[in-house]
Amino acid sequence: MLAPISNCTGCMACLNACPVSCIENVMDKEGFYYPQIEEKQCIKCGKCTSACPILQESIKKGYDNPEVYAVWHKDEKIIKKSSSGGAFAVFARYILEKGGSVFGAAYDEALCVNHIEVNSLDDLDLLHGSKYVQSNIGDIYRTVKSLLEKGQYVLFSGTPCQVAGLYGFLGHEDYENLLTCDFVCHGVPSPGVFKKYIDYKEEKERSKLIKIEMRTKKRSWVSPYGMSHVYNNGKQKELRNVFKDPYMNGFLYDIFLRNTCYDCPYAKIPRESDITLGDFWGIGIYEPFNHSTKQGISLVLINSKKGQAVFNNCMGEMYFEKRSLEEAKKGNVMLSPRKYNHPSREAFFKDMKTKPFEDLIIKYLQRRPSFKNILIKLIIKLVGIRNINKVKRVIKRYD
Ligand SMILES: Cc1cc2nc3c(=O)[nH]c(=O)nc-3n(C[C@H](O)[C@H](O)[C@H](O)COP(=O)(O)OP(=O)(O)OC[C@H]3O[C@@H](n4cnc5c(N)ncnc54)[C@H](O)[C@@H]3O)c2cc1C
Repeated sequence: MLAPISNCTGCMACLNACPVSCIENVMDKEGFYYPQIEEKQCIKCGKCTSACPILQESIKKGYDNPEVYAVWHKDEKIIKKSSSGGAFAVFARYILEKGGSVFGAAYDEALCVNHIEVNSLDDLDLLHGSKYVQSNIGDIYRTVKSLLEKGQYVLFSGTPCQVAGLYGFLGHEDYENLLTCDFVCHGVPSPGVFKKYIDYKEEKERSKLIKIEMRTKKRSWVSPYGMSHVYNNGKQKELRNVFKDPYMNGFLYDIFLRNTCYDCPYAKIPRESDITLGDFWGIGIYEPFNHSTKQGISLVLINSKKGQAVFNNCMGEMYFEKRSLEEAKKGNVMLSPRKYNHPSREAFFKDMKTKPFEDLIIKYLQRRPSFKNILIKLIIKLVGIRNINKVKRVIKRYD
């Protein structure tokens, strides 16, 4: 038996656990991955039910009061490649240097996002950077298990639900050689919507999109950060403000997330993983912080004894400072349970079936300028850019 569709996170623990491979990964009409049982082949062994972290009480639980650190990598080149402060690279390197494997999300040639295994520092580049779309787990938990059983070190990184899926699949076995990292998760967008967006960009440019970076730090690490697209025709397009991109705008305003993300059972403390990563949003606002935040600061929560031991072993690779959990929670709402919704989600997915992407952009994915911004633009047009300071003074009086 599988979890009801309304609660299924798509972690694919069931698919990995099935001994007769009768569970398929299919895309639903909203473009999300769901497991589907081929009833004729099912032998009713119940392994899918036992592995499901939604149907079973979670086995692994982290500390109620995790240690909290602000972390930034000592190597600036690595911080640049990373979405936050490069904390992931620190722990990944630790495992690779032990001859281990690192699992995480990477783009393939068609820019679909899948979980892959990496064995070298060079290939770690494939995992760097946040891909804001749900990754396809495939049968990767089986590979993780076979490596663990051979005694190899493994770092598995993924969304909180994917980490819970791995533990569900592994069952009660406690592997000393397994380290897990999840991240504070805003929610995962639909891979089907992402595919439509890629097709739209390629059609517009009349060239294949070969690389996409959903977060660049040229302007800033904090929102609104930048974005970049590289096409087969050699053009590289840099966007300074992600909110001007329809896909990122839709993601950040929660319009096409997976249904379960709007009431995520993992958006809380204690966590499922050994170490939780994130952006240390709000650092320095509520409590003083005396370092530059320009390139990015990682938030790191230590959820287990193993997580603390690895952190202690990696101290030479990173700068870090102990911070409070309250500060981390204030900056990152996804560390606390919250139930929310988007009033246009249903209409968006209904229209997605029939309308071209351009129409979805106009109707749902454009950031509407505020009345104040329209007014500022109009006044500047009327009085000229040279008188901008006078305009600002007038506006301030009415603010
Ligand atoms: C969908 C999504 C939502 C997020 N929401 C938040 C949030 O609300 N608040 C917050 O503080 N941080 C959020 N993050 C995490 C943040 O963007 C960084 O990924 C995290 O801080 C790690 O950054 P880093 O600098 O340590 O390393 P990086 O090298 O940038 O981290 C890359 C790591 O992220 C993993 N990863 C990237 N994309 C995916 C994906 N689609 N699925 C699974 N794993 C992936 C890679 O496997 C790798 O382990 C989110 C990430 C994703 C992918």
